[in-house]
This record gives sequence, C-alpha cells and structure tokens, in this order.
Amino acid sequence: MIYKQFQDIQLSRLGMGNMRLPTNWGKIDKKKAEEIIDYAMEQGINYYDTAYVYHHGKSESFLGEALSKYPREKYYLATKFFVMANPNIEKVFEEQLRRLHTDYIDFYLLHCVNEMTSSAYRNQNRRYMDFLLEQKAKGRIRHIGFSSHGKPDTLEQFLNWSDAFEFVQIQLNYLDWTMQNAKRQYEIITEHGLPVWVMEPVRGGRLASLGKYDAVLKEAKPEWSVPAWAFHWLMGLPGVTMILSGMSTMEQIRDNVSTFQKDEPLTAEQNMLLMNVAAGYESKLAVQCTACRYCCDDCPKGIDIPRWMNFYNELALNKDKSAWEKAMQESVNPTDCIGCGQCTSHCPQNIDVPGYLEELSSWPVR
Ligand code: SF4
Ligand code: SF4
Repeated sequence: MIYKQFQDIQLSRLGMGNMRLPTNWGKIDKKKAEEIIDYAMEQGINYYDTAYVYHHGKSESFLGEALSKYPREKYYLATKFFVMANPNIEKVFEEQLRRLHTDYIDFYLLHCVNEMTSSAYRNQNRRYMDFLLEQKAKGRIRHIGFSSHGKPDTLEQFLNWSDAFEFVQIQLNYLDWTMQNAKRQYEIITEHGLPVWVMEPVRGGRLASLGKYDAVLKEAKPEWSVPAWAFHWLMGLPGVTMILSGMSTMEQIRDNVSTFQKDEPLTAEQNMLLMNVAAGYESKLAVQCTACRYCCDDCPKGIDIPRWMNFYNELALNKDKSAWEKAMQESVNPTDCIGCGQCTSHCPQNIDVPGYLEELSSWPVR
C-alpha cells in the first residue's frame, strides 16, 4: 500500500468508502462486508469513510462494530454531518460516536455542500462551525473538512466562510474533469492550500467498464484493469491526498489494492489515450448519474433510481430492446414514477429523474 503525508500522519492513498457495502435484501450483508473490511485492514488501508445517512444509518454502526476488534490507533475514521437529514448536530455527533464505538472522529465533514445546503451550514443561529471547533478543542474531532457537490462558485464561497477547513472532498475522475468541471473545483481547493479528498474515482462504478473502449485500454496496458486507469490518472494530480473507493466486493478491493502498490501516474501518452477514450465515451453517455443514492430514500414508489439511470445509459450504448422489455416486467419499474420530484430535489447532479423514467417507460432509443 502506498501512503501520503497529511499533516503529521500517513494516510493510505486508497481509502475504504462505506456507502456501497454488499447488501442482501436491502440490508448490509455483514459477513461479506466484514470480509472486505478485514482485507482492507490486512492490506494497510488505514482510512475508513462513512456518513450518518449511508445505508439508512446502518453504515456507521456496521463499521464501528467491524473495526472494534482492531486497536483504535490503527485506523482513521471519517464521518459526516448532513444538515438535511437531522439539523441537530449535538445529537447526531453523540449518536455517531456511539455507532462508531469511539470517543473521537479523526476526520469530520459537513456533508454534501451545494447550492441548497451551503446557507444552512453557514446559518449563524445554528453555530455549526463553533460546535466543530469546540469538539476539536476537546480532541473529539481531529480534523475538519467538508464534501462538496456544488458549483465552483459555491465551493469557493464556502471555503471563504471559514479557515478551519483542513481538506475538501469532491467528486473527481477523468470523466468529470471536464464534464462536471471538477478541474475548476480541484484548482479552487489547491489555490486555498488544502488537500483534495477524492470521491467517486470510478464514477459510481461507471468507469469500471467502458464498453467497446475497454479493449483499447487493455491493449495499451494489459496488466491494468479498466478501473486501474482511473486511479493511475488520479495519482498524477499532486493536490490529491486521499482516494476513496466504495468497494462492495472482494474482487474490487483486491484489484484496487494491487493498483495501489505503486505510485505510478499515467505517462503523457497514456493520458492522451485516456482523454480520447473519455471523450468518445462521454459522447455516448446520456445520464450523468453517479449512483450516490441520495435520491432513493424519499422515493414514495421505492424505485431504484440509480439502477434505472444506469440502465438508461446502457440502452443508449447497446440498444438492447429485449433487455428493456425484460426490465419493464419487474414489479417496480419506471412506469410507477408519479413525477413527485422528491428525487430531483436531492440530486447533486441535477438529473431530471422523472423525465428519464418517463422516457424509459416506452422504448427510449430512437
Ligand atoms: S419523481 Fe418518480 S422517481 Fe422521483 S421520487 Fe417521485 S416517484 Fe420516485
Ligand atoms: S439520480 Fe442523482 S441523486 Fe440519484 S443516484 Fe443518480 S446522481 Fe445520485
């Protein structure tokens, strides 16, 4: 495992994200998930990221339990406060400590700062930053940061609000570098002198397979998997300290761990090849869903929205009408959408979910 210095500590460059743990009938499959955590610990991953809302609140308690058999100083815990889920930070923080079986959080983040949440976090009456600084003074929070899903202007405004932030987590990968203007966000953070924490390095799994482009990458570097290209690309950005991956299978974590044995950024030639692949792939991509699942909890119809957004993209690429016909026979499918808009109000990517679901309700490929 390769490591990078952050202040006075060494962080594994690969962090374990706990938003997409393996599940069984909608619940965390604890046996499989624990196997992943144990392997991560064994391989030297020392950063574990979760949040109050992941897996309907169960990610923190699972992680606390899974890590409790290891000495506390062997791993760093990161979790987040999300103002839209519960605005009472005192209560949430105490609950998080209990769930995580700990009396301090190494990295505490304000979750999902965007155009809707930014002012709620900065609301003077709520004194959120005062609370974080008080906890830090008591040693109950070691480092303060935030995750950003907003526009560059929103990010800049938030960074200017307080000089207490020590790191910023953003969605960063070779596709979003230009597509979601992640490049500008990266620049803003580094201009503020802060390190970048990366989430969605393989875009919710979307960059794990690029269809017909997989063969191009395989031919250029047969010993790398397709997702490995995304990680080697990130290794070339000097401002990046932490690369989080929400690993849900042993196969994924084994592949990622092998990628992170060596700090090996892409060569100029490899970079050019990847950018060409990304441009070709992007032109075929219809929906920009990252499978973050922020939209799922409030859907009154229980529609697995990211799955259908992914399916929409697959159809755009493969035009497989029989797959569509089969999918539409499922008991919950796009025709169940009532257009209530609950999902869109949570979507950091501003995706018109009901619009795409309506398109999916009849053969969407023209
Ligand atoms: S608009 Fe459709 S998909 Fe979105 S929350 Fe409402 S019913 Fe669910
Ligand atoms: S539709 Fe939006 S909120 Fe829902 S999973 Fe996709 S990116 Fe996330």
